[in-house]
Amino acid sequence: MTDKNVTENFITQIIDTDIENGKHQRVATRFPPEPNGYLHIGHAKSICLNFGLALDYQATCNLRFDDTNPEKESAEYAQSIQEDVKWLGFDWQQNKFYASDYFEKLYAYAEQLIEKSLAYVDDQSPEEMRENRGDFNKPGINSPYRERSVEENLKLFRGMRAGDYVDGSKVLRAKIDMSAGNINMRDPVIYRIKRMHHIRTGDAWCIYPMYDFTHCISDAIEGITHSLCTLEFEDHRPLYDWFLDNIDIEAHPQQIEFSRLNVSFTITSKRKLSQLVENNHVDGWNDPRMSTISGMRRRGYPPEAIREFIKSVGVTKSESVIPMTVLEDSVRGVLNKTAPRVMGVLNPLKVVIENYPEGETEWVEGMNHPQDESFGTRKIPFSRVIYVEKSDYMENAPRKFFRLTEGREVRLRHAYYITCQEAIKDDSGEVVELRCTYDPESKGGTADGRKVKGTIHWVSAQHAEPIEVRLYDRLFNHPNPASVENFLEALNPESLEIIHHAQLEPGIVGQDDDVVYQFERNAYFKRDKTHETDQPIFNRVVTMRDSWAKLEQP
Ligand code: ATP
Ligand code: MG
Repeated sequence: MTDKNVTENFITQIIDTDIENGKHQRVATRFPPEPNGYLHIGHAKSICLNFGLALDYQATCNLRFDDTNPEKESAEYAQSIQEDVKWLGFDWQQNKFYASDYFEKLYAYAEQLIEKSLAYVDDQSPEEMRENRGDFNKPGINSPYRERSVEENLKLFRGMRAGDYVDGSKVLRAKIDMSAGNINMRDPVIYRIKRMHHIRTGDAWCIYPMYDFTHCISDAIEGITHSLCTLEFEDHRPLYDWFLDNIDIEAHPQQIEFSRLNVSFTITSKRKLSQLVENNHVDGWNDPRMSTISGMRRRGYPPEAIREFIKSVGVTKSESVIPMTVLEDSVRGVLNKTAPRVMGVLNPLKVVIENYPEGETEWVEGMNHPQDESFGTRKIPFSRVIYVEKSDYMENAPRKFFRLTEGREVRLRHAYYITCQEAIKDDSGEVVELRCTYDPESKGGTADGRKVKGTIHWVSAQHAEPIEVRLYDRLFNHPNPASVENFLEALNPESLEIIHHAQLEPGIVGQDDDVVYQFERNAYFKRDKTHETDQPIFNRVVTMRDSWAKLEQP
């Protein structure tokens, strides 16, 4: 893949042409989230595209909060968005803006439209307006208030701002064409009256501008050259251009649409994600099963894996659904290179090594990464009583089971060969302990050249640290949860399994809790310190191999 942040696509071609033709000497993009929820994997595409282009073209990318809808917006959301963008590895430098910074300017532009007879105050009720807008087959009907004079419109609009009218009783509309084929052009609303406290402007305003009016003007004010948005805004582009053509502003950014990122088994709608949070289906916006950026961070996804994933998906105009396994493979790919290996036993089975001296501890050396010596080595305590994985023992095992069963020898990773002599069962017949012997000559695996096929991981019982392990699976068990009438019914009831008494080799907890470790032969894990708990909690970031691939085959 190229060194560029954004692989060549139809948008980079447009930009290249614009530079060649001298249309622009510099490029400016923006990422314009509405602070009404946490960012999700879909937003990551927009972030990587806008900020990535800025890096590739030595340009700027503004972070602009599109905060024109006070009832759903909060400072918490605005804060989380900044953390998420930074964590993904991007920097807006000093270019953080808010659409609300432009409220005064936007208001002045609205008056300009009125003065040009291109906007009017409408007293119709919302129902009348909806009725008179028409539909695909039916042209709209002009409002009876459409021909108000400039003076009257100015007076009424100023009255709207001054708080003379109740919420919803009047709106300011652009005067375009009620019979336009594109319904967005049928005299769209520009301002509505809404007495709502705003996170930044407080109670200074009781009228708020609509998205379509705000967005294009904010882009122009900031000198954005290429305003990239998702395909659902394609039909709004004529309106984007109309506003800029009809107010006195020099800049005219180009709106370019690309297809949304959809990932199978996930939801990318803030509204639905917030429903999961509000109804306690998950442990907050950053629940490790959520498709939010903060969820992926808490789970332990490396930001470079998300960037690589987005890059591999590319930028086009055609809608598609990317299999979740592609994202997970990116995570595995990065972690395979970056995760130190340690030994953790998820379902411990006690093993007593009968011929190993009681009370003795020996420190064996383990490589931290089998393919990368730069990770160094560590000392791991070995003693008479160890834990191995329950699933590494089998009674009456078939010949091809190269792990523990009576009479069979296996290699303990980084340590000795042991031979299983006897399994001890409790009253219910469950195996609770293995009695084994070890070969003192076999340390490091160079005994006498005899073949021992299986290698298993282990921890020293006396030294290991008990941990809680959270095994996450997909939050939804339907490939397209958004298509299910009630998406909550697509929730996977087995998306979280908690293991309370796993055992981890010592020296890992607290060493660097931001590191993702591979628990050898198990999966990748990262410490989760979100809640105060007695035992350290480790999240499973991703399994070693993909267990869902079958389900996603076309
Ligand atoms: P949602 O549908 O989750 O509410 P939104 O589009 O309303 O998302 P915004 O905060 O307006 O959320 O989005 C900020 C930017 O991110 C916009 O430019 C939007 O087009 C882009 N974006 C949102 N979802 C996706 C997605 N799934 N793929 C690519 N870009 C997206
Ligand atoms: Mg939006």
